[in-house]
Amino acid sequence: AEPEVEDDSEQLEPRPPVVTVMGHVDHGKTSLLDAIRKTDVAAREAGGITQHIGAYQVTVDGHRVTFIDTPGHEAFTALRARGAQVTDIAVIVVAADDGVMPQTLEAIDHARAAGVPIIVAVNKIDRENADPQRVRAELAAKNLTPVEWGGDTEFVDVSAKTGQGLDQLLETIVTLAELSELRANPNAPASGTVIESRLDTGRGPVATLLVQRGTLRLGDPIVAGTQAGRVRAMTDYRGERLKEAGPGTPVEVLGFDGVPEAGDRFRVVESEREARRLAQERAQRLKQEALARQMR
Ligand code: GDP
Repeated sequence: AEPEVEDDSEQLEPRPPVVTVMGHVDHGKTSLLDAIRKTDVAAREAGGITQHIGAYQVTVDGHRVTFIDTPGHEAFTALRARGAQVTDIAVIVVAADDGVMPQTLEAIDHARAAGVPIIVAVNKIDRENADPQRVRAELAAKNLTPVEWGGDTEFVDVSAKTGQGLDQLLETIVTLAELSELRANPNAPASGTVIESRLDTGRGPVATLLVQRGTLRLGDPIVAGTQAGRVRAMTDYRGERLKEAGPGTPVEVLGFDGVPEAGDRFRVVESEREARRLAQERAQRLKQEALARQMR
C-alpha cells in the first residue's frame, strides 16, 4: 500500500462521521437506512430523488452524517479486506422481537476488529412481542453493556416502520462523532476509497467515491486501483451536480477508463498521463502477484 500522508494538526478541519449499519438478516438494516434517509428534509424537497449510489448524507442539527448505504457486513469486510478503513461508527441493528443472532455477533466482531465504536439500534419496537430489555441483557453478556446499566454502549430503541427513536439514534451518532473529534485536511489533492462501482450502459464506468482527505474537483486527473481517468461529472446522492466535494462526502463520479473495484483507494494526481502510468504499474504488479501465487 502507498504511504498515507500525515497532515499537520493546524491543517485539519472537522469532517462528517461515516456510519455503517450492520446486523442479522431481516432485522431491519435496509428499512432503517431508508427511514433515516427520509428524515432528510432537504433531500425530500429536492424532489424526493432516492438515487442509490451506495452512500448518502443527512443533516442533524447542522451536523452532516454520512451513511454507507450497503447494509450488511459483507460490504464492510470487503472494503476492509482491501485495506480500506472508511467507517467511524458501526450501528448494529437487533430486532427486538428476535434478539441477538449469529450475524449480530459477527457484526460486533467485525466492528471490534476494526476498532470502530458501536451503537446498538434495537429495532422493531412497534411489534407486540418486542422485548428490548432482553436484547440489552443478551448483549451485556457479550460485553456490550448499556450506558443506562453502567456500561459504555449506547442503546437506542427504534422502529424503522413508525420512525420512532430515529431522531434519538441520529443525535447519539452525532454526540459520539463529536467525542471522536474526526478531522481531515480539505486543502490537499483528494484521496479516499471506492465504495461502489458499475458499468452503466449509457454513461460508462460509474464509481461512488468517499472522499477522505482533500477536496475532489471537476476535471481532476484521478487513479483508483488499476483504473485511471479524469473527473468528468460528479453528483451527490440526490443526483445534484457538484463542482467539488470535501472530506467525508460520497460522490458518484464519471470519467474512469474502466470500472475500479469497491475497496480500491483513489487519489488525484498531477496529470491524466501520470494517472495512467500509476494504473498500469498497479495492473502489472497485480499480474505478477497472481503469477507468483500460481507458481507456489
Ligand atoms: P435487513 O435484511 O436487515 O435489511 O431487513 P429489512 O430492512 O429488509 O427488514 C426485514 C423485514 O422486517 C421487512 O419485512 C421489513 O418491513 C420489516 N421491518 C423492518 N423494520 C421494521 C420495524 O421497525 N417494525 C416492523 N414491524 N417491521 C420492520
